[in-house]
Amino acid sequence: MIKQYSGIAPKGDLQLIQNLCRKLEGKSFLHVNSTREGGGVAEILNRMIPLLQDLGIDARWEVIEGDARFFDFTKKTHNALQGNREKFTKKMWDYYYEVNRRNKKNLDLNADAVLIHDPQPAPLIDYRPRSGKSTWMWRCHIDISNPMPGCWSNLKKYVIKYDTAIFSVTKFAKSLPIDEYIVTPSIDPLSDKNKDLTDDEINEVAERFNIPRDKPIILQVSRFDKFKDPIGVINAYKIVKNYNDCRLILVGSSATDDPEGEAILREVKDYAADDPDIIILLLPPDNHTEINAIQRMSDIILQKSIKEGFGLTVSEAMWKEKPVIGGAVGGIPLQIVHGLTGFVVYSVEGAAFRIRQYLNNPVMAKKMGRTGKEYVRNNFLLTRQIRDYLSLWYCSRHRGKNVIEL
Ligand code: UDP
Repeated sequence: MIKQYSGIAPKGDLQLIQNLCRKLEGKSFLHVNSTREGGGVAEILNRMIPLLQDLGIDARWEVIEGDARFFDFTKKTHNALQGNREKFTKKMWDYYYEVNRRNKKNLDLNADAVLIHDPQPAPLIDYRPRSGKSTWMWRCHIDISNPMPGCWSNLKKYVIKYDTAIFSVTKFAKSLPIDEYIVTPSIDPLSDKNKDLTDDEINEVAERFNIPRDKPIILQVSRFDKFKDPIGVINAYKIVKNYNDCRLILVGSSATDDPEGEAILREVKDYAADDPDIIILLLPPDNHTEINAIQRMSDIILQKSIKEGFGLTVSEAMWKEKPVIGGAVGGIPLQIVHGLTGFVVYSVEGAAFRIRQYLNNPVMAKKMGRTGKEYVRNNFLLTRQIRDYLSLWYCSRHRGKNVIEL
């Protein structure tokens, strides 16, 4: 499997992965998160776990279970950690802990390395097996640059019990008494979401979803979440529409750990109301090839978030050589080098201005799309993220040594 990446991913990453895997062969690496489908974390784990297994690592992926009360609470914490004001009670935090305690009974937490993703399963650290020399890492995928203080201090109680915390962006890092690392997320160039498609495959999807191709297509793919700003996207499109004819597609799916999606979708549908050039598609979370095709048939791809952990959809679009526009938040400016691989924007008007700039300058748009693909190749492919995780794990096993041989 790893051989399939040669000629696609940087050679140095592939060599380092193979060296690390020789050192870590047979060792167990457990990932725990809160949903098997929907959102960026599931997207990455679905691809990373089989690849690690193929490399000789005993990799496993477990998902914690919770009821509506639990996921309502964790969505609130997600919103509060991204800066929203939310109300919490001690009872809510107790229930959060209690659901994790119950989950622990069904989880095998014995592994040489354990990577716990995001706040939902963070309390599992209290059930770390006492024996052995396992490494426990907490991986934060959300924009935690300006959290509601009370919420962060409650979560922090668990975070500081880990050996290591991993963030996607430097400014998310906190002052913690444990090791902290920055690891950016990644996309898999060989997945159904990102692999090359033929024109016939793209046309088939356009026909199946009744997407006319007579006007330029502006696209945003994301969960229906207020931080993804779908209403702002519609407003930008409406401004553009005064000058340039185009069509807007909003594609979303639901994630089992995101209870707010339905209400936001209703709001977006009401807002788009009677505009026949706005297409809103709610797709099942496993419609990866379909999303791939819709991204490829689009002319401009937006991720106009107002808070964002990383925003995989940006790299997905860039890999397809699409000109991109993203909100200047979270990991988006890491992917979009302004003016080179895309444009970052701060407002609806800014987004509209950049859409028009692309529409009116197709040669420039194409050139930026091409540059974007190479930028993703060098920085945001799955192999680079595997390289980073294995390096962190390997280094933590050799903590205290001056020289670590690979
Ligand atoms: N995604 C999808 N279907 C949808 C909406 C999103 O498959 O209808 C995928 C999208 O292609 C990307 C991931 O979900 O791979 C979203 O990751 P991102 O980091 O952009 O945002 P998150 O949802 O994790 O906040």
